[in-house]
Amino acid sequence: MRVSVDTDACCAMGRCADTEPRVFDQDEDTGTVVLLQAAPPPDLHDTVRLCAELCPCTAITVTEE
Ligand code: SF4
Repeated sequence: MRVSVDTDACCAMGRCADTEPRVFDQDEDTGTVVLLQAAPPPDLHDTVRLCAELCPCTAITVTEE
């Protein structure tokens, strides 16, 4: 799995960082998403997919490899 984020599209809701803080964080100043792991391990894939589904701004893209 590969993960990418679009910080321009991100509306800084923080839902991803709340749901999977091992993969997503928020910028301290702007609140926009910070990607911590672009290739998360398999045990995190389900929650990463959930984060992409829940993101209100469709700012998270998941590519299955
Ligand atoms: S859930 Fe989406 S909009 Fe909210 S911080 Fe994460 S990437 Fe940004």
